[in-house]
Amino acid sequence: MSATNTVPRELDAIVVGAGFSGLYMLYKLRELGLSTTVIEAGGDIGGTWYWNRYPGARCDVESMHYSYSFDPELEQDWEWTEKYPSQPEILSYIHHVADKHDLRKDVVLETKVTSAYYDEDSATWTVQTDRGHEARARYCIMAVGCLSVPKTPEVPGLERFRGDWYHTCDWPESGVDFTGKRVGVIGTGSSGIQAIPIIAKQADELTVFQRTANFSLPTFNGPIDREMVAEIKANYREVREAGRRSGFGVAIDPPTKSALEVDEEERRRTYEERWQRGNLTGVLQAYTDLLADERANETAAEFVRGKIREIVKDPKKAEILSPKGYAFGTKRPCLDTGYYETFNNDHVHLVDLRETPLVEITDKGVRTSDREYEVDSLVLATGFDAMTGALLNIDIHGKGGITLKEKWAEGPMTYLGLGVSGFPNLFTITGPGSPSVLSNMIVSIEQHVEWIADLLDHMRKRELTSVEATEAAEKEWTDHVQECGEATLYTKTDSWYMGANVPGKPRVFMPYIGGVGAYREKCEQVAAQDYEGFALR
Ligand code: FAD
Repeated sequence: MSATNTVPRELDAIVVGAGFSGLYMLYKLRELGLSTTVIEAGGDIGGTWYWNRYPGARCDVESMHYSYSFDPELEQDWEWTEKYPSQPEILSYIHHVADKHDLRKDVVLETKVTSAYYDEDSATWTVQTDRGHEARARYCIMAVGCLSVPKTPEVPGLERFRGDWYHTCDWPESGVDFTGKRVGVIGTGSSGIQAIPIIAKQADELTVFQRTANFSLPTFNGPIDREMVAEIKANYREVREAGRRSGFGVAIDPPTKSALEVDEEERRRTYEERWQRGNLTGVLQAYTDLLADERANETAAEFVRGKIREIVKDPKKAEILSPKGYAFGTKRPCLDTGYYETFNNDHVHLVDLRETPLVEITDKGVRTSDREYEVDSLVLATGFDAMTGALLNIDIHGKGGITLKEKWAEGPMTYLGLGVSGFPNLFTITGPGSPSVLSNMIVSIEQHVEWIADLLDHMRKRELTSVEATEAAEKEWTDHVQECGEATLYTKTDSWYMGANVPGKPRVFMPYIGGVGAYREKCEQVAAQDYEGFALR
């Protein structure tokens, strides 16, 4: 069944975004019998995994955990092929889910929601799109994604560039062949680190422009271990439940010791064993204090730098690639396949933008303070306006006409990352103030969707028409999110978690770091106490 083109004028709920969040929300709202349309800007469903088709795009959470848990039959039937799923495989999984549950017929594609106005008398939202639709619904559910608004370089000239340029998150569906080309890649975050080894295999010359060196760990990716799959499938309920109650969304044995209470030899052995596991949490979760104590963190940071020096033969390149000036893990660490090794190729060059900053894009390539680099193709791996970008791109007007932009001028304020006072009947899936990007996001998405669906069911049974976070609950929660952040090293680093990658964006720690288990408990408590902190009418 294909997507629809019509947005009914009157609905129970409008969902914005058709990634993992929006599609599952649709499924749950249908279960409740609520008429729902999902509006999606992209040309197809899939969200992140529709847009980010760059070479090497892959999830950093293992396949068996980065998947929906709501459908036990799907869980058993679907076969992942690799330890870490690639973008095409995740996208075909999403398509499979949509087909199985006939979700597309309520999704409108290639349509951007431009505004949403709340009407106090009727307690409804009116939503408008860039294709002239106007629809009214009791509930407006933002499933717009934490990493869905791309950033471009902060220097002028991109429009002058005469070669081809691509943003990693808006990659041509037909793919790009860089054979015989001189290619420049700007940016060495997760996307750049995944794409660079593959682009290097095709290109004649590859120049990587790096502003900040990132910590990256090897995935040791490969075909999925069938024995492990069978074991997980036999115990999926327990595995999922353990993930839901964990810190990050995948259960691990929590660390028990401080990095500073063991000697250097033991630390080195521990880090080495965990490096070989090929995952995000191994080294980072080796000791209790790696994200809280600078000295402890430095032991892990220096271990990773040592690995970089071992792998990269040219000491100058190794030095530039070695992260400095911030704690390991406080910017999202990356997982890679052969990233550092790529710099051992003579045709791969590295430009340190801290030493010679980017000045402009020219018609022929990239100019730094030092010289011009001529390239045929440019790849922008320059990241996202994370967590608030997609929400603030929509002109959202709440009670008394106040806009979300005005309300969040000093940084996002939410209750549980789910609701905003002054904006009744509006929900934000994986909104700022929830674990979101500090978790296996599918776990966080499912929890939010199910919590919202339970609340709407509760309201229907009691014939209530509006729900709004109270100002007091919102303030208390937002302060708590900040306090938790400040107890760690995260808030000392300029990262996209802090809004620091977008000029002019308020510096606030946006995700909740208390862990998905603790957060879930809090949400359950709130629901059990008649949705404490929300005003229901
Ligand atoms: P998205 O998938 O971002 O979907 C949101 C959708 O909303 C988009 O399709 C967008 O077009 C649409 N939209 C936004 N605004 C509007 C509007 N105004 N009108 C209409 N439509 C709109 N998470 C992990 O847990 N582990 C990982 O390893 C991991 N790797 C990632 C790698 C990359 C390159 C990226 C970009 C993200 C990664 N993520 C990862 C995060 C990923 O975004 C989530 O895991 C998950 O896919 C989010 O689903 P979502 O539906 O909430 O948001």
